[in-house]
Amino acid sequence: MVAGAKPSQKAVRACLGAMRRLICLLLYCICGLVSMDAVVVLLYHSVDSNGTFHSVNPTEFRKQMEYLKKNYSIVTLKEILEFAVDGNALPKKSVAITFDDGYYDNYLNAYPYLWEHNLPAAIFLTTGHCGKKAALDGVPLRMLGWNEIKEMSRNGIVFGAHTVTHPDLRKMGPEEIKGEILGSANEIERRVGAKVEYFAYPYGAYTDEIVKLVEDVGIRAAFGSGRTEGLITSAEGPLVLKRVPVDRSVSMLMFKARLTKAVEWTRRTQEWARKIGRLFAGNLPGQTK
Ligand SMILES: [Zn+2]
Repeated sequence: MVAGAKPSQKAVRACLGAMRRLICLLLYCICGLVSMDAVVVLLYHSVDSNGTFHSVNPTEFRKQMEYLKKNYSIVTLKEILEFAVDGNALPKKSVAITFDDGYYDNYLNAYPYLWEHNLPAAIFLTTGHCGKKAALDGVPLRMLGWNEIKEMSRNGIVFGAHTVTHPDLRKMGPEEIKGEILGSANEIERRVGAKVEYFAYPYGAYTDEIVKLVEDVGIRAAFGSGRTEGLITSAEGPLVLKRVPVDRSVSMLMFKARLTKAVEWTRRTQEWARKIGRLFAGNLPGQTK
């Protein structure tokens, strides 16, 4: 019975994938015709050919950066913060580049290009993993050490906090949560010598209480992922800012689409597609880091 069920699951998945690509193409065309105004914060994890879902191949990463350079203004997190808090004007098509967790391949495969082209970017560090290995999608990957972090900081990369141990903060008490945020921020400040003003929620997970604690410890802007996927508007405040994740499933066409309002529409259609998929093929795997 199980052997017989597999091909139908595969067929459903292939069908859903094709549907998603088609919807993406349509939405991209519509967004291209209607409006391309957008303020986007991109979220990368690993930039490597290790094959994990949350890795982007270095060749793809360069293509994506080339596209941004030609078509978008690449702005800093400070500019995003000023836009979110004060409504300061940004160019019509603005994008910021961020990386979560602090994988060594960011230094090896992303930083040289960013440095060469003078592109601003920020890395949110899980400080307890620095210089060690940590799992991404079950695969142990080398993490950034403090020497690489200091070098990148001297050359314009901004470092934000991403906790000490990468826990789900929703499962912790207030003092533990504060310890995770401050422990991460303080170590970066001590090692790098620059004030830490930005934070990213591990797994994009937060509650109103966690947001309040983030504010209380002096973080000026905090970034989500997952359910907060989308574009940024100046009306949202700076403590749960949306981002747009990029992973190895994102084709160049999808990448272009995800820089427009299509990202929010595709997220909804993907949610519907998953619900339909579950009806026919059982649960599809969740993909969050
Ligand atoms: Zn993370």
